[in-house]
Amino acid sequence: MKKVYMDNSATTPVRSEVLEAMTPYFTETFGNPSSVHSFGREVRKAVDEARDKTAAAIGASPQEIIFTSGGTEADNLAIRGVARALQQKGNHIITSAVEHHAVLDACLALKEEGFEITVLPVDEYGMVSVRDVEKAINDKTILITIMLANNEVGTIQPIAEIGRIARERRVIFHTDAVQAMGNLPVNVDELQCDLLSMSAHKFNGPKGIGALYVRRGTKLKVFNFGGAQERKIRPGTENVPAIVGLGRAIELAVGEMGEKTGKLKGLRDKLIKGLLGIDNVRLNGHPTERLPGNANVSVQFVEGESLILSLDLKGVAVSSGSACTSGSLDPSHVLMAMGLDHQTAHGSLRFSLGFGNTEEDIDYVLEVIPEIVSRLRSMSPVYSAKK
Ligand SMILES: *Cc1c(COP(=O)(O)O)cnc(C)c1O
Repeated sequence: MKKVYMDNSATTPVRSEVLEAMTPYFTETFGNPSSVHSFGREVRKAVDEARDKTAAAIGASPQEIIFTSGGTEADNLAIRGVARALQQKGNHIITSAVEHHAVLDACLALKEEGFEITVLPVDEYGMVSVRDVEKAINDKTILITIMLANNEVGTIQPIAEIGRIARERRVIFHTDAVQAMGNLPVNVDELQCDLLSMSAHKFNGPKGIGALYVRRGTKLKVFNFGGAQERKIRPGTENVPAIVGLGRAIELAVGEMGEKTGKLKGLRDKLIKGLLGIDNVRLNGHPTERLPGNANVSVQFVEGESLILSLDLKGVAVSSGSACTSGSLDPSHVLMAMGLDHQTAHGSLRFSLGFGNTEEDIDYVLEVIPEIVSRLRSMSPVYSAKK
């Protein structure tokens, strides 16, 4: 059976060039980077090179990169680290209703500890208003955390403008750029952010490795204690093969971004056009300010879960909401924040395209989906009542 993977926002395959770069660091080049002997020094050099590549990809300097176990840890370290470091100064944090759970739940946990959290609403396209951010800042505000691009609907936030305001008002600004890396230009000075999270497995690197950019002078209180690795901000022996993999993956992702995103946009627009040709299907997310590979639609009178299962039987992998929330039956918090009713939110499907996708994949999906939709609708009491 034909297999079509359109779930690149959940994870991506490791590219062969990346695997090749990583492989020696499991076996022959196995030293501990903290060791002073030649085995250690050789590996230290590889970690330093990966740090240089990561920094170069976002316009940072190498000392500003802290390797973590992924996007989740980078988000938690940024938010909890700033909150603890600045709690004498203030207790107010601003975030948005469409953040990844790593951000949203880290903020909600801080609320239990006495912090005040403003969760900004979004418009029907999932966009945060810059004016809302500005109005929410008070003299107790210590942190603003708003994502660069949304993982479910693909909406790109006005991060550079928010960054400008944060800097003017001297508030620390963190952005979760996990979905943006390799899909959008990311430069920490243009975005004017103090902290930025990324995760390698979202840009064809390995799972379980990410990085937090920490602008020089930004105070973070740490939670883990141990060795002096990662400037003591993230102690513990480095995951060397994964760090090398992240370095190689980000170098490739940024180098080939123009070519990749040009291709993805074309495929995405063809997919969206085809999907909207089915009756009672609507696009979720911003019509233009969206990730190059994201197509999120709601199919009325059908459950997203049933669509996913039927598509899976045809070899097509997509998701409904985010990978982390499927498994629960609650509708996506992102779609609810955009004002969708429960039924429309439940009928949502997210296609996220990547390197491997071709025009034939799009044709195949557009061929199988109308038939699945009409079969599922024919079983729906709501749909028969409507007709
Ligand atoms: C995937 C994702 C994360 C989590 O990253 P992990 O490396 O899987 O922990 C955080 N934020 C966003 C926007 C994501 O898409």
